[in-house]
Amino acid sequence: MTAPDEILKHLIGELLNVSNLNGVRVLITAGGTQEPIDPVRYIGNRSSGKMGFALATEAAARGAEVVLVAGPVALKVDQPGISRIDVTTAAEMATVCHEHASRSQVIIMCAAVADFRPKTTAAQKIKKHAGPPSIELERTEDILDSLGKAKKPGQTLVGFALETTNALTNAQEKLSRKNADLLVLNSMQDAGAGFGHDTNVVTILAPDKDPQQLPLMPKNEVARAILDRIEELCRP
Ligand code: C5P
Repeated sequence: MTAPDEILKHLIGELLNVSNLNGVRVLITAGGTQEPIDPVRYIGNRSSGKMGFALATEAAARGAEVVLVAGPVALKVDQPGISRIDVTTAAEMATVCHEHASRSQVIIMCAAVADFRPKTTAAQKIKKHAGPPSIELERTEDILDSLGKAKKPGQTLVGFALETTNALTNAQEKLSRKNADLLVLNSMQDAGAGFGHDTNVVTILAPDKDPQQLPLMPKNEVARAILDRIEELCRP
């Protein structure tokens, strides 16, 4: 049952139009990761970080205390309420996420974390005259999966997905397998959606709810829509 002081706090918040995220610790990952092959080369992806940064900016505007864990991106953020931690690899991102997850009420895993990394990193630049090298890969940690397994009562976990086949079915399956409360499915089909764009097309999935399909919108409006759904789950 909800405690009377929680109900009172909620009612005062509603009257004063205070967000449910006010004062809430929110952990957000953004951008891609880079997995080194040698000192100058890496395996990476095309994530710009724009969606994660839009989420961080909007969450902070709603009064949240945001920890933004960013892969290598060309974005700046100077808004009060956001502590930015820059990382390069999936392993570094995992370490920072594990450090902050247990004290975060909301966790939004927006980053395009590498699924594979080179098993070894060459100490020197690999010379081309020896011919193309074989690079053995190994799995990185699935951070969202680990955080889903360690999820505490009252914690809200949000994952992202980008699927090129059977998108909705795969995303529904991912939502439940990773124990997430929301899963944001990025479109690969629509013009203006996805990597690098300032706009996006997403579908928000939640257990036992119909998918919420949003039209093409600027990423800051997509961030608002996602945070509105998160706020519903954070109600006292
Ligand atoms: O399984 P898939 O990689 O498609 O899941 C995407 C979701 O999982 C995203 O929320 C992404 O941030 C997260 N992820 C992760 N660690 C990985 C790979 C993906 O946390 N190594």
